[in-house]
Amino acid sequence: MQDVIIIGGSFAGLTAAMQLGRARRKVTVLDTGLNRNRYAENAHNIFGHDGAPPADLLGAARRQVAHYPTVELVGAGAVSISGEPDNFAVATTAGDTISGRRLILSYGIVDQFPDMAGFAECWGKTVIHCPFCHGYEVAGRPWALLYSSPMSLHGPMLYANWTDDITLILDGHEIIDEERHKLEKRRVRIYDGKLASISQQGGRIEGVTLDDGTSVELAALYAHPRNRPSADLHAQLGLDMQATPTGTMIAVGDMQATSRPGIYAAGDLAMAMHSVTFATNAGSLAAMGALQSMLV
Ligand SMILES: Cc1cc2nc3c(=O)[nH]c(=O)nc-3n(C[C@H](O)[C@H](O)[C@H](O)COP(=O)(O)OP(=O)(O)OC[C@H]3O[C@@H](n4cnc5c(N)ncnc54)[C@H](O)[C@@H]3O)c2cc1C
Repeated sequence: MQDVIIIGGSFAGLTAAMQLGRARRKVTVLDTGLNRNRYAENAHNIFGHDGAPPADLLGAARRQVAHYPTVELVGAGAVSISGEPDNFAVATTAGDTISGRRLILSYGIVDQFPDMAGFAECWGKTVIHCPFCHGYEVAGRPWALLYSSPMSLHGPMLYANWTDDITLILDGHEIIDEERHKLEKRRVRIYDGKLASISQQGGRIEGVTLDDGTSVELAALYAHPRNRPSADLHAQLGLDMQATPTGTMIAVGDMQATSRPGIYAAGDLAMAMHSVTFATNAGSLAAMGALQSMLV
């Protein structure tokens, strides 16, 4: 019987594993190796590791976690979960069933790309979701934001930190006049048309064309596609969920506890704002929550 089974061994899951391994707890980490930022050449805004390739960060973390003899890293996915606290059973894609007293769910989310040539090729390079992660590299150049929800209206104000050449593409959505005037006062260009095509070379965006024929030259396109959890284990478990501006997340309380006893969740799967730092922080809290719950 393991103390904790961690499902998803990336930034959140490996942080939890490190913490539990150092407390000499028996841990299995199941992971399928598809961290969300694998499309980006470099990861930024990470304490002590600004600009490191994501694969290097995760490779180093795996090696360091594997050093702890009570932690087992397994390259397999979790397919189903049953049981109760002190006796959960997790069935894996390798055909095994692993028993554990507590669970940490850290299997992340999947971005659902629009069906448009060039979008996937540029994702994480010049089609970007977060200016703090990849904005500095294209500062001072023409940026556009593809509107996806009312949250998008905050984007142009924020982007003024990096460039004064900002276009908002409404992509067929409507915004109220007051918002339009506020943005125009800040010299944000607003186009109403729908995104029709992306022109790019090897992941470097050159521009976009809208369905009304408007063309915009760009160095970066900001986009927030809808996302969904990477697995359906939370649904199997009937966990409480919460809507986010771009999808859904597992609802968590103190120490990342979910709505079911003995089950914790961390990382992008359990928060609306996404970064490596937030994920590692939540992984650490979840480990502490799981550990504390086994002391009573
Ligand atoms: C293109 C892009 C670039 C980004 N760049 C940055 C950046 O520069 N700086 C920054 O701070 N943040 C960046 N982010 C955000 C960052 O990638 C995420 O916040 C972070 O990866 C979240 O970590 P996580 O551990 O929650 O999930 P993930 O890193 O997504 O890991 C989830 C893990 O769970 C595994 N998994 C899925 N299903 C199962 C299953 N059933 N069983 C077992 N394992 C499973 C997956 O294979 C994966 O390894 C970027 C995001 C994107 C999309």
